Amino acid sequence: MSSVSSSGAPEPGPVRASSPRRTVAMTIVAQDPSVGDAHGMLRATVPVPADRLEPGPRSHRFQVIDYDATARVLLPPATLTAEPDAFADRSDTALLSDPAFHAQNTYAIAARTLAVFESAIGRRLNWGFLGHELYLAPHAMAEANAYYDDDVRAVLFGYMPARPRRGPRAGPQSLRIARSARLDPDAVYTCLSHDVIAHETTHAVLDGLRPRFLMPGLPDQPAFHEGLADIVALLSVFSMSEVVRGLLGQADLEGRIADRTVTDQELKKNALFTLAEQVGSALKDERGSALRDSITLRPSTRWASDPRYGEPHARGEILVWIILESLAGIWRQRLADISFGGSVSLARAAEEGATAAQHLLGMCVRAIDYLPPVEFEFPDFLAALLVSDADIVPDDNHGYRDTVRGAFARWGIQAADNHIADLSQAGLTPVYRNLSYTALRSDTDEVFRFIWENLELLEIDPRFYIHVEHVRPSVRVGPDGMVVGETVAEYVQFLEGTPAGLSRAIGLRVPKAVASGTRVRVLGGGTIIFDQFGRARYHHRKDIRDTGRQQRRLSYLIRNGLAGGDSLGVSDGMPAGQRFAILHQPDADPRETW
Ligand SMILES: [Zn+2]
Repeated sequence: MSSVSSSGAPEPGPVRASSPRRTVAMTIVAQDPSVGDAHGMLRATVPVPADRLEPGPRSHRFQVIDYDATARVLLPPATLTAEPDAFADRSDTALLSDPAFHAQNTYAIAARTLAVFESAIGRRLNWGFLGHELYLAPHAMAEANAYYDDDVRAVLFGYMPARPRRGPRAGPQSLRIARSARLDPDAVYTCLSHDVIAHETTHAVLDGLRPRFLMPGLPDQPAFHEGLADIVALLSVFSMSEVVRGLLGQADLEGRIADRTVTDQELKKNALFTLAEQVGSALKDERGSALRDSITLRPSTRWASDPRYGEPHARGEILVWIILESLAGIWRQRLADISFGGSVSLARAAEEGATAAQHLLGMCVRAIDYLPPVEFEFPDFLAALLVSDADIVPDDNHGYRDTVRGAFARWGIQAADNHIADLSQAGLTPVYRNLSYTALRSDTDEVFRFIWENLELLEIDPRFYIHVEHVRPSVRVGPDGMVVGETVAEYVQFLEGTPAGLSRAIGLRVPKAVASGTRVRVLGGGTIIFDQFGRARYHHRKDIRDTGRQQRRLSYLIRNGLAGGDSLGVSDGMPAGQRFAILHQPDADPRETW
């Protein structure tokens, strides 16, 4: 075993139901069971948000339910009692075969992932479904798959039975998970992969923040779900600085590593930059190949028409490349600043990587609030990143924004300065007649009143149905402790009709393949950010009358069969809850899974 303790871990002590401490320490597998050294798999002791824990474990946000639908077995809930936990000193084999450890690992990483979002966004986040708890099923099925299912409010993790020594590949029954309290330590469990757990939890969190991103939309929209999920998985590993240290390599007696081990090329080859190593190796039947290795993509400005980037995961990898490339660039620069005599301190190198990764992760997460609620496209993310970061980090001393902008530009993705309208600039004077600033912070009717008074300024066409769906307060804390209080309001607009009706209403030319009686729905909407004084600051909108975008969306939906019966753009024709199952179905090409 190879064990590390992450900074910030609390002192040992018993876990009480109402512990006043903010975190408790838990043992997890740092990456997955295949990543480690001569001493065994790399594990970490990490701080997990403190909560009252019932057997499962079950907190007020998560509940681990160990039901295996393949074996039709419900394993008993795990009770986590001591701190440091009972797992800290046990052997690798003991951890791999103990379902209680699997339950803890799944819970701890899911809870830490939610905490990444809540601390960057500065408020408690709701799930995308009705209910307070997300179910986590660590051994849900004997399948090389894992997915978030909003219909059953769960993340389901599959497992791959170990290959038998001889004979044909055995079926799920070979796992023998059903009859014994011990699991097969040689099987591959997605619930032991940090990256898979963080990825799937991110789908669930993003679904709460932008529920309409699951509606039939432009291809960038499902790609954003996949790309963000990978970005969160990859960058959150960096919060375990000892893990980063362990993966950077062996230091000399003075605690230093040679510059040549942390060059651009070497950093990008590191396990830190690849996703789900063990699962990837098992699926590709090749040791050392990760599930996704986005940093090896070759940037091209012609990706939008390249069929290779049609599928959501492949398309999402563009965003992953952009953020990883930015990370490598900023990290390399920070290493150059501290290098002397051909080497750098290992501890400092890890720290610099962690700082850069945490800053980028915070930028990505905070940007979500600045996205429109519907009709997402990649330039929206770039614009949201730049505007939201400039608000909280006015002086960009390390050049994060320029680096990110440059990485987007390598793919030809740009956002005009006015992509997000700045409502505070000279010449614009929103009307606040009879408005209550207090009510603006929480009341959808009050925000609608603001929109109604300012239709021309906001360029919203009142002929189409307008609905303010959410008004949410946020308190953002920047890396240097700067606090910005804001209110985020989202509204949507709908228009539904036959192809002829839409042509009359907004001049939309519905593709010829659509039958004349088909019910076609088009969407628009926007996000308005109010500052702490109740003044409208930004408006990020997707105009419902943008016929170019509407035509692109409808063509994409038709081409990909994302239509339901006699309607188009209303539903994707998939059974509720199965969207990610289908997105994450294993294919011949392992890049197309998860
Ligand atoms: Zn996914």
